[in-house]
Amino acid sequence: MPVSIVGAGPGDVGLLTIKAKQRLERCDVLIYDRLVPRQILALAPATAHKIYVGKNPDGLATPQDRINELLVEHGSTGCSVVRLKGGDPFVFGRGAEEAQALKAAGIDFELVPGISSAFAAPAYAGIPVTHRSISPMVTIVTGHRFVSAPGVDWAALGAHGGTLVVLMGVRQLGSITGGLIRGGMGPDTPVAAVMWATRSEQSVLRWSLGELHQRLGPTGSGGDVGVTSPAVIVIGPVVDEATPWFEHRPLFGLKIAMPRPAGGETALADGLRQLGADVLDQGVTRIVPLPLPSFPDIAARYHTGGEEPIGRAVDWIAFTSSRGVSAFVDGALTSHGLDARALHGHRIAAIGETTARSLGRFGLLPDVVAPTPTGTSLAEALIAETDQGATIWLPRAERGSPEIVQLLTDADRDVRAIACYATRPVPVSEWPRSLTEPDQLDALILTAGSTARSLAGGWDELFGRRPSEVITPDVRVIALGTSTSQGAHAAGFHVDAIADRPDVDALLEAICTADS
Ligand code: SAH
Repeated sequence: MPVSIVGAGPGDVGLLTIKAKQRLERCDVLIYDRLVPRQILALAPATAHKIYVGKNPDGLATPQDRINELLVEHGSTGCSVVRLKGGDPFVFGRGAEEAQALKAAGIDFELVPGISSAFAAPAYAGIPVTHRSISPMVTIVTGHRFVSAPGVDWAALGAHGGTLVVLMGVRQLGSITGGLIRGGMGPDTPVAAVMWATRSEQSVLRWSLGELHQRLGPTGSGGDVGVTSPAVIVIGPVVDEATPWFEHRPLFGLKIAMPRPAGGETALADGLRQLGADVLDQGVTRIVPLPLPSFPDIAARYHTGGEEPIGRAVDWIAFTSSRGVSAFVDGALTSHGLDARALHGHRIAAIGETTARSLGRFGLLPDVVAPTPTGTSLAEALIAETDQGATIWLPRAERGSPEIVQLLTDADRDVRAIACYATRPVPVSEWPRSLTEPDQLDALILTAGSTARSLAGGWDELFGRRPSEVITPDVRVIALGTSTSQGAHAAGFHVDAIADRPDVDALLEAICTADS
């Protein structure tokens, strides 16, 4: 298997290529640098051997020769090795040296390009690096002075025109601006520094070249004017054409934890990211399927129990989640060699469109879909469609919410819950750091009572403290639905707002309400 030299992009997980994600998801060994965000590392299997070769707290990085040795060492074992580098591996990334070392050792490799910060940082600051009527070219240059390589002639670049994109330019900023002015670049030329581009910490500073140089002097560093690394410096008239967008999104800069069952849906988290939030959504619970008898057996056992005559009314099967659909189909049908035909004669209901779509994947079209995806709405729809005494099967989680059962039972429907899967806590040793150091959070979104219980249990184990002592009142706690809110309260959380539907708009509204 070739060693994959992979570009991780500038930070935003969404800017990872599909190929990079595929390589990460199946790697055995991951050798990675500084600036690769944790969320991207988390795509590698938990079992993968992860080797950090970036700068240590003492400022020293693993020497390149040693990195090359590691690549050759692991590459020759035949296991799947990913060498993950920030941005693009061949843009100031020393990817070439690593490729050459692998080739020299006779080890096959592939290169997966990444989105370089040279392009992503200006883009996320809304600055076009070229512009039809303003800048016909862009030069990408390093501001770092390498002992072994020829230096950059800044004065020549100053005379060159077009757009300059400077990487690693923070420390030498004064000598860079000085060189450009000496070469004839106009002091009015606008300059922007884009720090932590594409991340929730992104910030942009702007000056004119003359003003910046005056403040820095010939030897000043970016730190003197508030520029810290990592930063991309963009110089040229295109800076005045900026149309900022990234920092203007409604949730920009908010760090939100939304723990979810491992391997669960990511659509909500992705939606919040699109609104600008930095969402950490790794699991503190995992789902385990429960073994089930075949559905015809479950139904027959119940009916021969003499509680209800067969055929008096059509039975309903009501699904309250996509997970319930797949756990039921796997557990009660497929694992017994059955398919959708075994549900013949039953009516089917779904709590919402997502669940209906999941049913569709198994060739099942629900007879009823609740108008809003809540237990109450589903119960109301079922009551409208059935007679008193009707049997309603409810395939769902082991400790599902009592609400829907209560509503249907109160209306004299005969509800039979089928526990298809259970939620189990993930050991705290496997928790993401955002949840073991939760003081960095702006908001916490709880999507199930089981998540609240798992968090409370983990924090008790880690710190011996209750959720109300770990999650300070300034962290907005949002619960998805009233039963989650009740579960959260019972587990010791304060809840600031409830999102009444599992969609991004409802979450956004709840987050904003909680802030006011
Ligand atoms: N191969 C990388 C560059 C590595 S050199 C790429 O293609 O992006 C490291 C430099 O990249 C930093 O000093 C900084 O100038 C720039 N950089 C990387 N990520 C950045 C980010 N998120 N925001 C701003 N600059 C970044």
